[in-house]
Amino acid sequence: MTSGYRYLIPEAIFDELTNKVKESGDTIFQGWLFAERKDYFGIVTDYIIGDDESNVHEKPKSWMRMKKNKIFNMRKYKQERGCDIVWSMHSHPDGNEELHEVDEEILNYLSTGVMIIVTANNIIGHFYDKRESKKAIRDKMLFEIISE
Ligand SMILES: [Zn+2]
Repeated sequence: MTSGYRYLIPEAIFDELTNKVKESGDTIFQGWLFAERKDYFGIVTDYIIGDDESNVHEKPKSWMRMKKNKIFNMRKYKQERGCDIVWSMHSHPDGNEELHEVDEEILNYLSTGVMIIVTANNIIGHFYDKRESKKAIRDKMLFEIISE
């Protein structure tokens, strides 16, 4: 994963998402980030903000069920939109770019996945994979902002 693969995001999308964190106050939003996979880079093409306001950090009993819905949504979006990559994202209004405990638990439960964290200043991806090793492989996906 660390083979120099790059992640690009158009400036307009970066600004919209980080501004949404600023406007949302303490409210966490969640959504989907869509991207196209190229040979040497992945580029964000679009996003959707989910309309459910459930706090991803505060409902530990329901996250498994919720996450399974999400996996279903991912497949559906990929088919409908014909896009290569669908990443789950949510905001951290406190500015923390690291994963919360619940985020970790979800990734652990899924065995592998990507979680995108949006703060008021940054968008960062966390790649996680423990399918083939006891100790999970982790990687951060740093987005490069491009102006169109
Ligand atoms: Zn989180």
